[in-house]
Amino acid sequence: MRLRPFALVEPETVPEAVEILARLDGEARVIAGGTALVPTMRLGLVAPDRLVSLHRIAGLSEVRVDKGMLEIGAMTTLAALVRHAIVREGWPLLAHAASRVATPPIRSSATLGGNLCYAEAASDPAPALLCLEAQVRVADSVGERVVPIGEFFTGFYETAVAAGEILTAVRVPPMPEGARAGYVKFCPRSAEDKPLIGVAALVTLDGARRVSDIRLADTDPRAARRSGAAGRDADRCRGSRRRGHRGHRG
Ligand SMILES: Cc1cc2nc3c(=O)[nH]c(=O)nc-3n(C[C@H](O)[C@H](O)[C@H](O)COP(=O)(O)OP(=O)(O)OC[C@H]3O[C@@H](n4cnc5c(N)ncnc54)[C@H](O)[C@@H]3O)c2cc1C
Repeated sequence: MRLRPFALVEPETVPEAVEILARLDGEARVIAGGTALVPTMRLGLVAPDRLVSLHRIAGLSEVRVDKGMLEIGAMTTLAALVRHAIVREGWPLLAHAASRVATPPIRSSATLGGNLCYAEAASDPAPALLCLEAQVRVADSVGERVVPIGEFFTGFYETAVAAGEILTAVRVPPMPEGARAGYVKFCPRSAEDKPLIGVAALVTLDGARRVSDIRLADTDPRAARRSGAAGRDADRCRGSRRRGHRGHRG
């Protein structure tokens, strides 16, 4: 299907972008890499008459460490995230999960902010960020707020980012000392497909090499009821933790 004509607005600062979104009052859509938005526009599922591009906003593609927290600008592409030495070394779970998204051409356009705001149940980075207990920075015309990732996903393709707001960055605490983590993705056909289900796990051992903490997160809404806390030697375990649901302790 052909795209319907639209105007492109390219603000150069976050305040300018949120001011434009507030002024257009729901008629405009933010565009980042466009890998999710453009196909939905082609299908006619959304038909915004204005797109507000975040590409010219300086600083939104920065990756840095701030007081031990990894801070990833919303416009950081998944390819840049996977390549980044700091991320690979300190947050290998996130680098690995991002590397499992689609194909190199998609990863070089798709942004982390776009992936989270699209809020598809097939997001590979989301379970990793849930296990890492990340936070999301959200800006609007009056300022900025911080949303824990566990409260960010509010439903099917729905997030805590309201119309007129912009996700500006993702903050990720350091991996707990003694932690090991992994992400496994099950695909219907090829390894490059969207996951049928993806599961991230983070297990922390204490000084006596006993399990002191287990965090599990997945892409499948049904799994929240299925999985329980684990670890025979666990002093403290966390059970399944998925979008919008608090984990439970066993
Ligand atoms: C063929 C194909 C295969 C794919 N395979 C996978 C896969 O295996 N795993 C996976 O996780 N994903 C997969 N995806 C999904 C895609 O990679 C993600 O959705 C992508 O990361 C979206 O990022 P983007 O920058 O392109 O977002 P866009 O398409 O630009 O935007 C997506 C949505 O988020 C909003 N948005 C974007 N950025 C912001 C922001 N900073 N603040 C507020 N709102 C914002 C937009 O308005 C739009 O509604 C696939 C997509 C395609 C087309």
